[in-house]
Amino acid sequence: MASKMLTFVSVGREMPEKRPASGRRRDFAEIYARFDQGKAASQASRCSQCGVPFCQVHCPVQNNIPDWLKLAAEGRLEEAYEVSSATNNFPEICGRICPQDRLCEGNCVIEQAGHGTVTIGAIERYITDTAWENGWVKPVTPRAELDQSIGIIGAGPAGLAAAEQLRAKGYRITVYDRHDRVGGLMIYGIPNFKLEKEAVLRRAKLLSDAGIEFRLNTEIGRDLTLADLRRVHDAVLIACGVYKPREIMAPGIGLSGIQPALDYLTASNRASLGDAPADNRKSLDAKGKHVVVIGGGDTAMDCVRTAVRQGAKSVKCLYRRDRANMPGSQREVTYAEEEGVEFVFLAAPEAFLGDKKVSGVRAQRIHLGLADATGRQAPQAIDGSHFNLNADLVLKALGFDPEDVPAMFRTPDLGVTRWGTLKIDHRSMMTNLDGVFAAGDIVRGAALVVWAIRDGRDAAEQIHSYLAAKSAGLKTAAE
Ligand SMILES: Cc1cc2nc3c(=O)[nH]c(=O)nc-3n(C[C@H](O)[C@H](O)[C@H](O)COP(=O)(O)OP(=O)(O)OC[C@H]3O[C@@H](n4cnc5c(N)ncnc54)[C@H](O)[C@@H]3O)c2cc1C
Ligand code: SF4
Repeated sequence: MASKMLTFVSVGREMPEKRPASGRRRDFAEIYARFDQGKAASQASRCSQCGVPFCQVHCPVQNNIPDWLKLAAEGRLEEAYEVSSATNNFPEICGRICPQDRLCEGNCVIEQAGHGTVTIGAIERYITDTAWENGWVKPVTPRAELDQSIGIIGAGPAGLAAAEQLRAKGYRITVYDRHDRVGGLMIYGIPNFKLEKEAVLRRAKLLSDAGIEFRLNTEIGRDLTLADLRRVHDAVLIACGVYKPREIMAPGIGLSGIQPALDYLTASNRASLGDAPADNRKSLDAKGKHVVVIGGGDTAMDCVRTAVRQGAKSVKCLYRRDRANMPGSQREVTYAEEEGVEFVFLAAPEAFLGDKKVSGVRAQRIHLGLADATGRQAPQAIDGSHFNLNADLVLKALGFDPEDVPAMFRTPDLGVTRWGTLKIDHRSMMTNLDGVFAAGDIVRGAALVVWAIRDGRDAAEQIHSYLAAKSAGLKTAAE
């Protein structure tokens, strides 16, 4: 069935229906509805089928976007799903949570010509959600089972993408995670209103059905060492993410009511999953409180929007730079504003007020000075510019650094960079330890799900080459 493409001149850009902010504020459901088939097809038909598709170039997994848009426009959704899933292990997840404005859609050629981007993310989500509904998403089935086994530390997107790719080749895979559920930050970091947990849970089941073994509640370093894993597996992949929260050094930081962002988000995500509340439930709940979130990235946006949904009295985001310099997705900032979050830009905490419990934040105004070596303007405090904000709950969302992985894994000779990320050979993706590879945030620093998927897939290729060479060497030696 031929379809007319390049309809961007006559068909305007449309996103799926967005729920009004007044309704969104009251629950944790995703904020966008799904396209129906007609809308998905007409929006896909806006693609200009560029000879050099910049959307694809700027997609970390190099999705063949123009091809699956054309198939979607023609209603050939099963084929669209096949093309889309050939380069991405979790297309429906990326369709929901990639910052498309900075990646594929930000580089769409028709946007540059003033027509508004093709709604790539929403169509990608539509294709794969439809594939799930129709039973087209199947566990990978290896052509032959291999004897070699691979241990993967971390059931986040990097570890899972690698696990699926390697299982498809026939390796025996065991994924170890210290959490009780599969998904890494996709399950306990990112809130439901961006990514419904069902989307992660069904992927976890699919991987189990493919024969991947998950050993949950197993912390490497506490329950097993890296050396144990190296003994039982032919190769090991470290994909443990970055979890050390950056701290604020200011008087009063030890008061109760000042919480790390990820503890707060994890508690909220566990509630969405129906888990029994933890003992510290009250201290991690924003209901009826004045909330101040410190930071301007994706984590901060997730905190402010969660606090709104929990029924906070007021929610403020304190950020030391201005809106244009926020590190997260601008879309998320807009959603937060729509939902009633107040942004206090160019301001930083100077001290936390209160007796035992926090009651306020003393902040000072910031001036952005000359650009530093990184090219970003350095924030400078303006003398005498103090002001106070009421706060019963303060959330620290300043980003994450790697934990001390060599100490955590009781492997002091594991090589790290000066930032504490794992040092790898960027071609082989191997660390300085033979047969030990690394991928995802623990190599790149805090990044994105789609980059973790890309790294997991690349690591899988390199592990496969390494093991193939090893078994070829063994055979040659035996001959
Ligand atoms: C609040 C928040 C919101 C975000 N929002 C977005 C977004 O909207 N879009 C986006 O693309 N990205 C987002 N990100 C970033 C994204 O989640 C990460 O870049 C991505 O999950 C990294 O994948 P990973 O597999 O490297 O690590 P992770 O997802 O962190 O997974 C690592 C896993 O390793 C396990 N682990 C760690 N140490 C051990 C150990 N010693 N033993 C056993 N297991 C261990 C952990 O329990 C975890 O399950 C967000 C991040 C945060 C914190
Ligand atoms: S994976 Fe992310 S960047 Fe790539 S096409 Fe999908 S939404 Fe865009």
